[in-house]
Amino acid sequence: MNFKKEIAKRRTFGIISHPDAGKTTLTEKLLLFGGAIQEAGAVKNNKIKKSATSDFMEIERQRGISVATSVLAFLYKDKKINILDTPGHKDFAEDTFRTLTAVDSVIVVIDVAKGVEEQTKKLVEVCRMRKIPMIVFINKLDREGKDAFDLLDEVEQELGLTVTPLSFPIGMGYDFKGIYNIYEKNINLFSGDSKKNIEDTIAFDDLSNPDLDKIIGDKAAATLRENIELIEGVYPPFNKQAYLEANQQPVFFGSALNNFGVRELLDCFIEIAPPPRDKMAQERLVKADEQQMTGFVFKIHANMDPKHRDRLAFVKVVSGTFERNKPYLHVRQDKKLKFSSPNAFFAEKKEIVDTSFPGDIVGLHDTGNFKIGDTLTEGETIHYKGIPSFSPEHFRYINNADPMKSKQLYKGIDQLMDEGVAQLFTLELNGRKVIGTVGALQYEVIQYRLEHEYGARCTYENFPVHKACWVEANDPNSDEFKEFKRVKQKFLATDKRGQLVFLADSAFSLQMTQQKYPNVKLHFTSEFS
Ligand code: GDP
Repeated sequence: MNFKKEIAKRRTFGIISHPDAGKTTLTEKLLLFGGAIQEAGAVKNNKIKKSATSDFMEIERQRGISVATSVLAFLYKDKKINILDTPGHKDFAEDTFRTLTAVDSVIVVIDVAKGVEEQTKKLVEVCRMRKIPMIVFINKLDREGKDAFDLLDEVEQELGLTVTPLSFPIGMGYDFKGIYNIYEKNINLFSGDSKKNIEDTIAFDDLSNPDLDKIIGDKAAATLRENIELIEGVYPPFNKQAYLEANQQPVFFGSALNNFGVRELLDCFIEIAPPPRDKMAQERLVKADEQQMTGFVFKIHANMDPKHRDRLAFVKVVSGTFERNKPYLHVRQDKKLKFSSPNAFFAEKKEIVDTSFPGDIVGLHDTGNFKIGDTLTEGETIHYKGIPSFSPEHFRYINNADPMKSKQLYKGIDQLMDEGVAQLFTLELNGRKVIGTVGALQYEVIQYRLEHEYGARCTYENFPVHKACWVEANDPNSDEFKEFKRVKQKFLATDKRGQLVFLADSAFSLQMTQQKYPNVKLHFTSEFS
């Protein structure tokens, strides 16, 4: 087995979008191409529709049965493709941010009628900061939508991207005739029939060919020629290096539901998207083709069956090969662990594997050893960076509602926090516990899970906090820092890792504090260097 060949074969990516843009539909069509599923409807839409706990629980239950939906792997034209699921619902944005630390590239799906939406903006911003290569797919061309050039402008301006279209629509909505593939120089005609032959394309090396007028009509042909000329004049030609460095983003148009433009996207994707990339650790840059295994936990999934309280930790292999029954160093705990049944994921199932390669996701059964961000190695002390906590948006005191069950409560809270469901802050002044979350929905989820999985009950009490800021003192022994700690004691807490956090009660108090204590730095994420 050639190690380097295995690495070169892999494409690990995420699809990001605002809910309803078509992420699930596109995922499903990609799986159909890979032959990984046989029919539409096989991919569960894990969307939260009503923002209700019952909805969330239902999804979690389904996922518990088939956790494979977190990672969908399939083979296509000799490439091993791993799609990592990213929840679109904003209350679960942190889960998505963490998953983005494990992808090597992303596809951004945009609804042709709605254009750039709020969640797209936030997620693309993260990808931009992390220099993740992105391909944009503009979806639902079978519907009336915005003008294609206006949309390209919107994507550039609102998402801060530098686009270059690799395909372009011929008409739209009612008049949608097909797509000109700039990358392959051919035309794919739209028939509105998703079962039509996907190879049904007509090569057009030269758009001045009069056959074009015959096939799509004089008017559409003239418009297409004009549009392509305009594109060539306005947009830079596709540059693979620029794409890989996240300085240019190719754009495709299509209709996922009609399976239209998806093959073009996938064929281009496997050609240009990066194989597993090298990753920066706190200590050094780790190359994907190093022989020694390194990997990190980016997601922990609880099994929702209360009878088996085991969890599945998802590890992205960064370098080397991950082997079954080989001892690996759990760096944070400084102990060696062996895994007798590491799981690999396929479209609809998971199974035990002996060897996994960089880019692969391995699922490890865990009884409470792992936290998000943990690193595994063959002995070297390496900490992978890039999974910071963000300041939550909601804060509440958590109280024990059943004094007989406090042990269960604390164990439950501890484990749920390790999974990254929410963040726990312990007040310096009185040791009270405050839970911070991205969305209000998580409080109900925590309550439900504490009760059903740990047999503990809790109540909440409002705690008005505007933002949590991680504190960094230029000089921890300075009088300024000591005064800050004394004056602000009521608002200080520690997070799970023991880092000091300032819980500002208003934007005003945050601003005043920053002015008054210029040598005390307040960060909105837990990771700073
Ligand atoms: P997600 O929330 O991003 O995963 O979106 P879904 O894949 O669930 O799609 C949301 C809705 O848009 C569903 O009703 C889909 O059937 C529909 N949809 C997806 N792609 C297309 C498309 O190309 N054309 C049309 N007309 N509808 C689409």
